[in-house]
This record gives sequence, C-alpha cells and structure tokens, in this order.
Amino acid sequence: MEPIRFEPPLYEQRYEFVKSYIDTHKPKKVADLGCSECSLLHKLKFWSCIEELVGVDIDEDILKRKGYTLTPLPVYYLDPLQRPLTVTLYHGSVCEKDPALLGFDLITCIELIEHLVAEDLEKFQDVLFGFMTPNAVVISTPNVEFNVLLSENPGFRHPDHKFEWNRKEFQGWAMNISRQYNYTVEFTGVGELGADSKDVGYCSQIGIFTKNYTETEETIRNKMKYRSTYKRVLHVIYPSIQDEKYLRKAVLTTALCHAERMKSNFLHNLFPEEDEETLVTADDREQPRVSSKWLSSLQTKTQLEESNGRPPFLEGDAVHVPLESLFAIPKVKELCGSLDVFQSMMTGEVTLSADGGAVVYPLHVDNDVGSDISDD
Ligand code: SAM
Repeated sequence: MEPIRFEPPLYEQRYEFVKSYIDTHKPKKVADLGCSECSLLHKLKFWSCIEELVGVDIDEDILKRKGYTLTPLPVYYLDPLQRPLTVTLYHGSVCEKDPALLGFDLITCIELIEHLVAEDLEKFQDVLFGFMTPNAVVISTPNVEFNVLLSENPGFRHPDHKFEWNRKEFQGWAMNISRQYNYTVEFTGVGELGADSKDVGYCSQIGIFTKNYTETEETIRNKMKYRSTYKRVLHVIYPSIQDEKYLRKAVLTTALCHAERMKSNFLHNLFPEEDEETLVTADDREQPRVSSKWLSSLQTKTQLEESNGRPPFLEGDAVHVPLESLFAIPKVKELCGSLDVFQSMMTGEVTLSADGGAVVYPLHVDNDVGSDISDD
C-alpha cells in the first residue's frame, strides 16, 4: 500500500484550521493544551489579534527544549509590536485545575485527547468545560475510520494513543459534553483524499465548541481562589509600543533614521563634488566652505526632495532637520498622534534647536553627530 502524503502535511492543515478560526473570531487570549514542541504557539504569536498566548504540557523537558522558539528576536526591540503580547508555558496536566487558565477566548487541544486514559479524559472534560470555561474550544483527534487508507495493519496511529474514535464516537462524546456544560458544537476536519475518502471522513476530525453563556463575576472570583498546580517554565513579555519605553524607542529609531537620511541628502546637494566624509573632518575642525552657487542649487534640490514638510536647512554651522518634516513620516505620526507629543519624546534624547523645532546636526564634528539614541 502506497503511504498517503497530505499536501500540505496533516499537522500543517490542523494549524491552518486554527489560524483561520482565529482570523474569523479574533480571540485575544489563546491557550494550547498539550502544546508539545510549541509549533502551533510559535505560529500564533504572529497573529495580530492575540495578546496572551499560553501553552500547557505534561512533558516538562519538551517545553524547556522548545520554549526558546517563543522568545522575541532582537528585531522586536527595534520594531516593537503594536499590541501587547505575553507568552507563557506551564508544565502541568490538563486534568488539573489551575486559575492561570481562566478567562481565555480560545483553547485548542490538537491531537491531545487520544493520549488520555478514560479516567483522565473524564477529569479533563470537567477541567476544560467546567472550570476553564473558555469562550471557544477546538479539539482535534484522529478519525479511526480513515485508518484503512493509512495502513493495512489494524492498530492505532501512534503507540501512545489510548483510543481512536470513529466519527459517531467522537460526535457522541462531544455532544454529551455540550449539553452538560452548555456549549454548542459543530464538526468538521482536515485531511481529505477527494473521492477515495468520501465515506471515511476526514483524517483528523475536529469539534468546535462555543460557550452559550456568560459567567458571573462571582463565579470567576471564586475560581481564581483555586490553588495553582501548574509550574511556570517560560514567561516572556514582547516589546510593544503599548509600553512607553518601547514606544519612545520606536519613535526615536524611525525619526532619526529619516533625519539622518535627510541630512545626508541635504549635505550631498550642498556639496555635490565632495563626499561628506572629506567635508566633515574631526581632525582640524575645519568649517565647511559654503558657496553661493551651492546654496542656490540646494534650494531647488531640497524643494524637490521635500514633499512632506519643510526641508532641512543650514543655520550657523549646523544642519537643521525640522521636526514637522519628521512628524510627516506616516509611522512617526501613527506612533505619536500629535506634533507636541513627538516633540516631547525627542526632547532630551537628541540635540534640538533653541526653539525645539528641529534636530540639529553640527557640521564641524564627525558625520555621526548631533543625535544619539539613549540606551534607556
Ligand atoms: N498539539 C501538538 C501539535 O499539534 O503539534 C501535538 C500534541 S502531542 C500528539 C500530545 C501532547 O499531549 C504531548 O506533548 C503530551 O506530552 C501531551 N499530554 C499528554 N497527556 C497530557 C496531560 N495529561 N496534560 C498535558 N499534556 C499532556
């Protein structure tokens, strides 16, 4: 029998299913139970609606080995997220209650339930639907009817599976739970083989549960009093512009990057035949020579270059880049909201003109002059 190859692979199709659910429903708090190597969490951290991501698994080693995939890359510190995002991993059993898993919009259980013995499955359903009570739950599990297309040998797909259900068994279990815990359930799946698999259903069957009620504040408060049973093995807070510190950094990095470019273009136009390095000599602190020809050509060129506000200008022996031109940069505008806020963020971080209206780059020091982003 030819082995079946799904394209994309089946596990990817399950993740894609969750991602499209998230696209539609935009949950903010999402937990993945039995997160294993954190592959789904890794993908979900890029979803812009998600602000809190949690993974739980009983295998502490795997969480410790793979947790690093959820930590922010250095680039996030240069370009922080628009939204807040925290990612937490817990070592614990889905059969135990822990207040850390309260208040979620979506909880996913991808290929988890078939790893639980009957007694644990009972505990798990009570923990998930009776205690955690998320607004929605996505559960996927193998559909045993599909196994005839996977192998000639009867038997489970994985040695650790405690059961594999047919569609009737899974749907019966899910509908009982829905009635018992006041959820609505719909069924679908991933992994189809066109006409061949029509009468055996999907390879992975999926139940989507939606909560039919809103919990009272008092119920939530009482559940919050439960003793923690999970052990936190990873907790990361992503740099976000919601945090004043990272917002300032993002504004400074963006604005100064543009300011440097505007200054360089300005100098290039000002001294077309010399490069900036030779002009700006730290050794002899020589003042640049500005001819009237250069100055008049400059006016035309900077006007052409400048469409978003006032062009840079020379005052004394310094290039001035007006803040209003930097504020015209869409990202700066979006981050600051107003010119006043932008000005207050730049104050103390870079050298500003006496009236506070421009970033100042003196000509008589090195080319990296005038403006430093502080490390704070
Ligand atoms: N959800 C993962 C994915 O889609 O990539 C794969 C899940 S893997 C097949 C099953 C996971 O469930 C394993 O990592 C296992 O350690 C975890 N698991 C089994 N029993 C558990 C329990 N009682 N509590 C928490 N995790 C459990």
